[in-house]
Amino acid sequence: MENYDVIVVGAGPGGSIAARESAKKGLKTIFFERGRKPGEKNSSGCGLGPRMWRDFDFMTELTPEDCPSLRPGAAARNYLVNNDGEVSGYLMTKPTDSVTYEPARSWITMNCYRSEFDPWLAKYATDAGAVLKTSTLVTGLLKENGKVSGVIDEKGNKYSGLVIGADGAISMVARESGLRQRWEQEQVTIVPQYDFECPPSKIDDVMGDEALAVWWSATFPAAYQVFFNDGFHIGLGNWMTWWEKNPMHYLNQVVALKYFQRQIRILEAKPREFQVHLLPWQGQPHDTHADNVILIGDAGGFPCPLEAEGIYPAMVTARAAIETAVEAISAADVSKEFLNLYDAKWRATSVGEEFKTGPELASIWKALPFSPLKTMSWFVPMLMEIIGGIFDWSEPHAVRVRQIARRVKQYLPNAIPFIMREVIPLLTAILGEENMNLLTDPEKLIAAMPELEEAIARSFVENDMEEK
Ligand SMILES: Cc1cc2nc3c(=O)[nH]c(=O)nc-3n(C[C@H](O)[C@H](O)[C@H](O)COP(=O)(O)OP(=O)(O)OC[C@H]3O[C@@H](n4cnc5c(N)ncnc54)[C@H](O)[C@@H]3O)c2cc1C
Repeated sequence: MENYDVIVVGAGPGGSIAARESAKKGLKTIFFERGRKPGEKNSSGCGLGPRMWRDFDFMTELTPEDCPSLRPGAAARNYLVNNDGEVSGYLMTKPTDSVTYEPARSWITMNCYRSEFDPWLAKYATDAGAVLKTSTLVTGLLKENGKVSGVIDEKGNKYSGLVIGADGAISMVARESGLRQRWEQEQVTIVPQYDFECPPSKIDDVMGDEALAVWWSATFPAAYQVFFNDGFHIGLGNWMTWWEKNPMHYLNQVVALKYFQRQIRILEAKPREFQVHLLPWQGQPHDTHADNVILIGDAGGFPCPLEAEGIYPAMVTARAAIETAVEAISAADVSKEFLNLYDAKWRATSVGEEFKTGPELASIWKALPFSPLKTMSWFVPMLMEIIGGIFDWSEPHAVRVRQIARRVKQYLPNAIPFIMREVIPLLTAILGEENMNLLTDPEKLIAAMPELEEAIARSFVENDMEEK
């Protein structure tokens, strides 16, 4: 038996940060990875969110020398695919003026392959003094008097200590500790994706500073495309409860789009790899800890309830878990009751703030891009009617506006119930019940905003002066 203060199962982003923070606090720490190196088994590509740079100072040290695939995702394109499977328009977006910090003002995500990023991150943990055991599958939890006391690996080696479950979506630690046997079907998504390689110069020439795309469609669940320095991913997913056909049927539909095929040709892209992953995606994490056990990252179900960003939540929950572990170990109390502190700690972070509106965010997302036949089938044509209809020379513009209004009216029996069911609860959760009447009552809105009143008065005075 080897004795440690903290045992971390998994060396993904969550595991490496847990191991680093733990070693930095002077705790004797070991972390395990079943792959020959961190990231080997976690081949899903990733967009790293800017909050990682804001909240983890060492992120500024990440360079293309460490991660040759690194590419900033400055702009995101949203393709809208209609009921006939044609791209009927797109919107390109960049970080907006309301964004408050760098580098979030410069890019939306920094994209790189996990096979490069995870080993880079793990080195911060080993540099801090944590022991990393690669090529080692942790197969079970040790128990004393029915309570978890440590772990056992595939070779039968035993380790005692407080256990951090950082072992991803299919978490052995969650199962063996009795926290969760398996995900409910509506808590977990399945995500197939293709990885294509293409010459970096082609990506630069063709995509410019675009490095992300979402394909919104009436015929398949929202698909994402992420560009790296020398290739891209195209993938899609949905909750287990949704699929009528094999997920590959829908992914192949995206790849078969004329528009997509054209992109493949222009980029000289060639398929390189195919991957399928499970991704927990839920409105509210629960059952995050037991006696002597804390779950972090995917193991605890922490990906963002809206966009399933999971790397930053894994890192943040890792930090909260170690802060909790430090207090528990020094109090010599690793009971579930003491570890309730973990929930208080992660809820006080940016991740906790996200989950305050988690159920509403998850619900609207399920109902919109992930209910393609039910919702996107009217949403895409309605949106394109509004955006595309105005810029049309087929009739005088006033006639066009009347034509568009008549057409949009046809979509209202779908749109209004959707707004009542999904949009209003979300807005209420974000703005607070007390502010909701401001949205529907212009007089109350003006009264609540003196600057609005002043601006309206000023604009009338300025108009009068111009006319004179
Ligand atoms: C297709 C796809 C695309 C995604 N894109 C993004 C994105 O763009 N941005 C983003 O932020 N998030 C993204 N996510 C989510 C993100 O990948 C996860 O949320 C994140 O990896 C969670 O980190 P983690 O450390 O909790 O777990 P993981 O990254 O899953 O790491 C778990 C580690 O534990 C190891 N392990 C598991 N079991 C054992 C065991 N018994 N013994 C030893 N080792 C073990 C695994 O090999 C692995 O290295 C995506 C997910 C998918 C599926």
